Amino acid sequence: MKQKIIFREIFLLLLLFIQCLTYAQPFVPGTTYFGRNNYIEYIAGNLPLIISVPHGGAVAPSEIPDRTCGDETVTDSYTTNLAKEIRDAIYNITGCYPHIVINNLKRTKLDANRDLPEAACGNEFADKAWNEFHNFLDTASANVTKKSGKGLYIDLHGHGHAIQRLELGYLLTATQLAYSDAVLNTAAYINFSSIKKLINSNVLNLAHSDLLRGNTSLGTLFAAKGFPAVPSADDRYPLTGQTYFSGGYNTERHGSKTLGTIDGIQIECNQDVRFNEVARQDFATKTAQVLLDYLIKHYFPKLPETYCKIVGVEQIGMSEFLLFPNPFDKVLSVKNSMPTDICIYNFQGKLVYSERIGTEETIELGFLKNGVYLVTLGNNGKILYRQKIIKSSVL
Ligand SMILES: [Zn+2]
Repeated sequence: MKQKIIFREIFLLLLLFIQCLTYAQPFVPGTTYFGRNNYIEYIAGNLPLIISVPHGGAVAPSEIPDRTCGDETVTDSYTTNLAKEIRDAIYNITGCYPHIVINNLKRTKLDANRDLPEAACGNEFADKAWNEFHNFLDTASANVTKKSGKGLYIDLHGHGHAIQRLELGYLLTATQLAYSDAVLNTAAYINFSSIKKLINSNVLNLAHSDLLRGNTSLGTLFAAKGFPAVPSADDRYPLTGQTYFSGGYNTERHGSKTLGTIDGIQIECNQDVRFNEVARQDFATKTAQVLLDYLIKHYFPKLPETYCKIVGVEQIGMSEFLLFPNPFDKVLSVKNSMPTDICIYNFQGKLVYSERIGTEETIELGFLKNGVYLVTLGNNGKILYRQKIIKSSVL
């Protein structure tokens, strides 16, 4: 009898272990995972940035009848292409991937930016796809929270409004955005916001109104790249009579309004930045720069040091810098597109080596202790490139 109980306990433990393995399914950054029938697509990431595309799908299977509930069925054309182009541009800068969740079903079959009854209209297959879409987003959020403690979620859409500007949704209506900074900075309006977590803790200690339309707000960063946006410093709120999307179900559920550590912003893109391929590619490249800049300014000042490939903090033309091998033992080689000053700092920030170098150098560093060092290359005190290197004598 006793043996039987032990056997049962071992069996239960084994079952728990298998369950653990199932839950801990590793998602490899850059790899695409699909839900049932490829309706929902998740490209796993390793940056604290999540992008979803709920309305860009074109797949219209007969097993799901056209939706008869809800009011909107218009596709946000080219937003799936745009999200993938933004991902590629982010990869080109960082060598890392954002998390991307895409609904490939046409909006007439599933609206992935509505609550379940309105999204799926009671169809079991649409219902399953809706759950997969939000489960992938929850997985991405949990991954970002575990790795970085906080992060940013973008729900990417397209609008057909006449004014060619980005409409950024923070769950504040046009009427509310027209209120004074002082009003928006009260607890009542902070509690409405989809970036509540960021308002309560951000690098520059900015107030809610600054994050909505100050000099480093998302809208102002976009405008500086040539893409007008509302709200922003020059376009503080939509005027009476102007159409404007303030954010929907996804921004509320996956942003930080109610709970969690991931802030959410809905980006509604105008047609001029979507329909033409050349224009869209340019917008995608600049959106990648803007989103990374936003993360660095407000969340992670040291983000570039965690990038997945060797990249310069600033680049001049096509300048290239290469430090190798990394890790190194006694000798570090440097390839430089121009003569620079090299400085090497230890983990405590103390300068341990500096020299003026040419375009190809080998530097004897056998005297350094094993450990992590920061190398900067620059001219006249201006840093052009920096990188972490590891000294190890057990290679
Ligand atoms: Zn949409």
